[in-house]
Amino acid sequence: MKILIKGGRVLDPAHGIDDTFDVLIEEGRISAIEKELKASGAEVIDAAGRIVTPGLIDLHVHLRDPGYEYKEDIVSGTRSAAAGGFTSVACMPNSNPFNDNKAVTLYIRNKAREEGFANVFPVASATKCSKGDTLAEMGDLKAAGCIGFSDDGRPVASGEVMRRAMEYARGFGMPILSHAEDLSIVGDGVMNDGFVATELGLKGIPWVAETAAIGRDVMLAEYTGARLHVCHISTRQSLDIIREARKRGVRVTCEVTPHHFTLTEEAVRTYDTNTKMNPPLRTADDVAAMREGLADGTIDAIATDHAPHHLDEKNVEYNIAMNGIVGLETSLPLTLRLVDDGVLSLGEAIARLTCGPARALGIPRGTLEVGAAADVTVIDPELKWVLEADKLASKSRNTPFEGWRMKGAATHTILGGRVVYQREM
Ligand SMILES: [Zn+2]
Repeated sequence: MKILIKGGRVLDPAHGIDDTFDVLIEEGRISAIEKELKASGAEVIDAAGRIVTPGLIDLHVHLRDPGYEYKEDIVSGTRSAAAGGFTSVACMPNSNPFNDNKAVTLYIRNKAREEGFANVFPVASATKCSKGDTLAEMGDLKAAGCIGFSDDGRPVASGEVMRRAMEYARGFGMPILSHAEDLSIVGDGVMNDGFVATELGLKGIPWVAETAAIGRDVMLAEYTGARLHVCHISTRQSLDIIREARKRGVRVTCEVTPHHFTLTEEAVRTYDTNTKMNPPLRTADDVAAMREGLADGTIDAIATDHAPHHLDEKNVEYNIAMNGIVGLETSLPLTLRLVDDGVLSLGEAIARLTCGPARALGIPRGTLEVGAAADVTVIDPELKWVLEADKLASKSRNTPFEGWRMKGAATHTILGGRVVYQREM
């Protein structure tokens, strides 16, 4: 099986490559990246006017499998990834049961390998059942194939437990992914605290609930020497803490979601529960800060926090609706808007979706290398389309972007030399 991708703009930020090349794929691997390649018998993909990038990576998704397959499962979730141009995803451990033991890790990896449409890198619980008190069997989990530890969905409330988690993770050469939130400050808040919350009569979550927790975790990373990755940052103050810590040499990386650099708390005025997420949508100044952080490189990765929920869990009062939205199929066009807005160059945008997340997690992906597994995404950056939730490959429909006019989409997603997604044109 040979595939020849002809005449595309090959963009590989990790190697500083941005030029027109042909890419030849043979037996699941990239066999050549050169001008004017010929290959008899190859399936040819005409990439003129398109971008050819390393397969995109989303380092923060919830696949809901095992346990919540009515929301999503490994097959539908990776199909959604492929449709969004992603060839690799890291899945969070808050399934049922939690991914806090190797049996669950192996279930995820085997199902992904046998039935999935993307590479799945499992993130294990840092503590048993992500309860925040007893550390999980980190050595076993690493041996089974987990690539990091997190109690995502909830914070590790005890600083002492987090300190020990970091010490062990450091020993295993693995990152801790922090869902940073001080629940005692969050209380029963459901949106960003401020003027809009007061007007709407909804309880607010102050920015300091996130930033105070990030401050603690950054200091613990500095103290232990562990690698810390801060999930879904949303406030200017959080970004400032991380920027300063990196200047001191603390090993901290971070991610932002497309919704946190696109939408503000103003979106909540519709009372659409698809604007309810954790952390909540913030102010225009916070959105500006997220864009600054992406531009100056403080933010390493764009990650979706893809959080599928059933209609019945969203079609309720704002106060009791579940948090989160699906994101895999809207991440790329929302990221490309940053290029149109002059925030990022195209190369920088692709870096935040490829080598940035790969480095944050320490996984050997995110570049195009001769001899490496052929994970490649072909993107039409000019393709105009309208988001219709009913047409998503995900099992769930919870998106605040229904009806949005999008520009840019993956036309082909190639996983290990196999076309796992091809857009109908
Ligand atoms: Zn989280």
